[in-house]
Amino acid sequence: MSMYNMEVEKVINHINKKGYKNVGLQFPEGLKMQAVSIARKIEDETDATVIISGDPCFGACDVCDKKMEGIVDMIVHYAHTPLPLKYKVPVMFIEAYSSINVKRSLDKALELLEDYSKIALATTTQHLHLLGEIKDYLEDNGKEIVIGSSSKGTTKGQVLGCNFSSIKNLDAEIYLFIGSGKFHPLGIHLFTKAPVIAVDPYNGEANEISDYADRILRIRFARIIKAKSVKKWGILVSSKEGQYRMSLAKEIKKSLQDENMEAYIILVDKISPEILLPYMDLEGFIVTACPRIAIDDSAMYKKPLITPKELEIVLNKRKWEEYELDEILFHERYKK
Ligand code: SF4
Repeated sequence: MSMYNMEVEKVINHINKKGYKNVGLQFPEGLKMQAVSIARKIEDETDATVIISGDPCFGACDVCDKKMEGIVDMIVHYAHTPLPLKYKVPVMFIEAYSSINVKRSLDKALELLEDYSKIALATTTQHLHLLGEIKDYLEDNGKEIVIGSSSKGTTKGQVLGCNFSSIKNLDAEIYLFIGSGKFHPLGIHLFTKAPVIAVDPYNGEANEISDYADRILRIRFARIIKAKSVKKWGILVSSKEGQYRMSLAKEIKKSLQDENMEAYIILVDKISPEILLPYMDLEGFIVTACPRIAIDDSAMYKKPLITPKELEIVLNKRKWEEYELDEILFHERYKK
């Protein structure tokens, strides 16, 4: 049994109702191992041929609608909530809610929350359905709970690696993040400057994030210092629909040229160290694509690879004390 609710019956009913003949399936890396069993069920119980998207996928910014246009009647996209984008093919989003029990890790978190009374909650797609339950549990333990409102691209209490709107301007002493990985709690800490407890329901751990944040900030500081000697830049734009920020790239190009530097825009689907190798002339890169790339994959890149906000620090337009993670908010998507 899957740990995630894949809602295969709902998908099958929808395909039968619409009479679709070709259906695309798209999963993030962690759920791809379920692709074959889901495809088998769909093909057994409908008249459709399933086409599984084999490319890597990391978010709703990367729905395979352009690639599957003309090939499928609809796409089932797993594990992400929709972004405000216009898709070329009908897309059914299945959140893939996790059935994991968070209570064990919440009890650990309660020990770390002992000295605090006002707590803000945040989570990612897989645990959104538990927010109400978590709120009740913490309230029963004497805490006051705040949950931030939705934005274009996120629902109540939800954070994305590129959208932290739901945790900004809340009245809370401390933040509790439920989910795996350190990037989201890092972002919450950097945007709020408040302490953040990260609760990982998969391993039952609860940890304060500030040591990790200090480590990341030290790495970013070193990258920014190195970037100050760069005179020839590459500006990376992703062709993925939800990461596409060409107008920002052009603004950056102009601001670098104004400082008498050279800057060239490179359009690419997926950014990796290998695709940057041929550009021997370029000394550093600015990523306008997914904000996680520069931070998570930093160690893989020899030349400085920085975010647009980090470039502002390099160019003395922002103070180091005002360091922020990059975000891709609604108004930036679709700007040419
Ligand atoms: S741009 Fe990055 S952080 Fe945002 S949805 Fe896509 S993969 Fe996630």
